[in-house]
Amino acid sequence: MNQTTAQSQPVVDFSQLKDPFLIAGPCSAETEEQVMETARALAKNPAIKAYRAGIWKPRTRPNAFEGHGGPALAWLAKVKQETGLPVTTEVANAAHTEEALKAGVDILWIGARTTVNPFSVQEIADVLKGVDIPVMVKNPVTPDLQLWFGAFERLQNVGLTNLAAIHRGFTSFGKSQYRNAPEWSIPIDFKRQMPGIPIICDPSHIAGNRVLLSHVAQTALDLDYAGLMIETHPRPDEAWSDAKQQITPDDLALLLSSLRYSRQVIEAENGVDDKLEVLRSQIDKIDRKVLEVLAERMQVVKEIGTYKKEKGLTVLQISRWSDIFDERKKNGASLGLTEEMIRSLFELIHLESISLQEKILRGDRID
Ligand code: PEP
Ligand code: MN
Repeated sequence: MNQTTAQSQPVVDFSQLKDPFLIAGPCSAETEEQVMETARALAKNPAIKAYRAGIWKPRTRPNAFEGHGGPALAWLAKVKQETGLPVTTEVANAAHTEEALKAGVDILWIGARTTVNPFSVQEIADVLKGVDIPVMVKNPVTPDLQLWFGAFERLQNVGLTNLAAIHRGFTSFGKSQYRNAPEWSIPIDFKRQMPGIPIICDPSHIAGNRVLLSHVAQTALDLDYAGLMIETHPRPDEAWSDAKQQITPDDLALLLSSLRYSRQVIEAENGVDDKLEVLRSQIDKIDRKVLEVLAERMQVVKEIGTYKKEKGLTVLQISRWSDIFDERKKNGASLGLTEEMIRSLFELIHLESISLQEKILRGDRID
């Protein structure tokens, strides 16, 4: 179904972000007063680029606050009108999407419990066909990169291009300090395979508490994320949902000012970019040397293998390996390299050497 949005110009172009896109607001829109009080406080902070509030709340267990639904959309419209902040909310099916579009919500997001369901994502995509609206897609609750990609493909298939991903962590078994394990390698892989889609981090749902928020936010910025979404409430302890992880607008301002924004630093300081390039080319040169030295070492290993074959010696001589390892550990320590690094590096080199010599002893062809 085709609908037109209330706004003509999207409030953000996710492909052109320069500064971190910072989204803040309560987990849930609880009352008009709470929505407005939070928005007024956040609007004082020019770093905040959009206001979030959940209106339809997919809760893991029933009998929790599931949001006010449609009627609360009017509060978001009021936030937008009074503060000028673009507003965003979660949509989980076609009906939510239609209502949110009618109410002029500027940016939509698909929640982690919806991304797991291709039918729900498809019905949202069908409503958005022909609509020019920015959409953010949270990672699925399960660590399944394909489901995350699939959601983007469904949106792209109906013509949406202004898209961003939100990394909110993954459900995991066992005890963890996080509410949802970040599994940073998954969003890094996402970025590698979908380089055109910026990633925003949601430290609130990853941390699940206030203590870990800034650590998670900083890690995201260090990994060059395009923004952050942080849950903010005037009285976090009284929040109707996710009380443990929300912070006040004042604490949010403190947190944001305590973070290191590496990309900005690079752009702000003249010449730093060039310096980075110089350093990177030094690394490239050193890595080439490392590879040459490794190849030279393997050449000698090959000669030793041939000699052992002639003399009928075994490939593995444990005493020699222990000596090598002790010696390398000492050499490494004197060069400031950690024991873990030396151990992993030489275990790998040793295994590769054994496998080469085994081939020689078996008489396999060595290229
Ligand atoms: C939320 O943002 O409040 C929310 C429900 O998040 P998620 O879909 O990541 O659980
Ligand atoms: Mn929440």
